[in-house]
Amino acid sequence: MLQTPYYLVDKSKLLVNMEKIATLRELSGAKALLALKCFATWGVFDFMRDYMDGTTSSSLNEVRLGHTRFGKETHAYSVAYADHEIDEVVSHADKIIFNSIGQLTRFGSQSAGIIRGLRLNPGVSSSTFDLADPARPFSRLGEWDLAKVEPVMELISGFMIHNNCENGDFDLFDKMLGDIEQKFGPLLKKAEWVSLGGGIHFTGEDYPLEKFAERLKRFSGDFGVQVYLEPGEAAITNSTTLEVTVLDKLYNGKDLVVVDSSIEAHLLDLLIYRESAKVHPDQGPHRYMVCGKSCLAGDIFGEFDFPEELNIGDRISIQDTAGYTMVKKNWFNGVQMPAIAIRELDGSLRTVREFAYADYEQSLS
Ligand SMILES: *Cc1c(COP(=O)(O)O)cnc(C)c1O
Repeated sequence: MLQTPYYLVDKSKLLVNMEKIATLRELSGAKALLALKCFATWGVFDFMRDYMDGTTSSSLNEVRLGHTRFGKETHAYSVAYADHEIDEVVSHADKIIFNSIGQLTRFGSQSAGIIRGLRLNPGVSSSTFDLADPARPFSRLGEWDLAKVEPVMELISGFMIHNNCENGDFDLFDKMLGDIEQKFGPLLKKAEWVSLGGGIHFTGEDYPLEKFAERLKRFSGDFGVQVYLEPGEAAITNSTTLEVTVLDKLYNGKDLVVVDSSIEAHLLDLLIYRESAKVHPDQGPHRYMVCGKSCLAGDIFGEFDFPEELNIGDRISIQDTAGYTMVKKNWFNGVQMPAIAIRELDGSLRTVREFAYADYEQSLS
């Protein structure tokens, strides 16, 4: 049996999202590209490929992975490319989206052979967390001045606008798209394609998928553009658990357990965004604070209710751990890095990656 900790990607759960994405593409005509910065577990790309149009990236490494492991349409984007990277980036991409006019003109000749676009920043977003708000004051993420973009229109045929962030509210999406239409309408009219980025939680249970599709179709029709979406979290939400084992129990005014994992090393966004992990069903008479094994004092998954008393050796499944987890895991404290396993549609389990001491050693020198 596979030792914990390990991430377990369940294809039958992933399929729920994939089918919603396929439906949305059909209803709206929009194309959907997986955002690799959120999820790059290529062991399931063969499975996802049938439901999505390709990938989008934030670096040379990601665009290369998208091109080689996923295939189909490959969008390159990065906040900034280095001179020594650009030729290789272009060799892996169908489209390159520059973050600034400066980068677009700097790499004008190297990128002339593929479709080019520019990131626009509408100055509004759905983010409530400054750290993750692309429209934060003085944001470096995209151009916002129409007068500056106008003169470089002959170099580009489309735009990328990413200003949704964990947005499960269709009305808010609709309103912000209205703002974009207002602000950038004249530019959009001249474009052939527009990517509306990620951050839209359209695979959520109560999301009005049909209204969303209709809105995208109207946007596409009004401006004569092919719409792209770049779902990260929405593509893989609820598909994965982090399987951990209880190593110790303590009572320090609260009942707590220590498990063989760490939020700082394996679920870093919980720490960054001050969120609690999730367990299921989180019901019952036994409440525990579940803690990580790193020496960071605040390495805490959260406080949860369990149906039974927890004992050393018991398994806990941390829920919904696909997005921004495996791509961010690290060797802090030398904590054993979780393996990656896939549950196939027939229920069988396949271990696709295990990490050993040599991986830790070789990550340093
Ligand atoms: C982060 C990001 C995405 C994916 O965002 P999710 O919230 O995971 O859907 C897509 N496009 C761009 C440009 C991004 O920065």
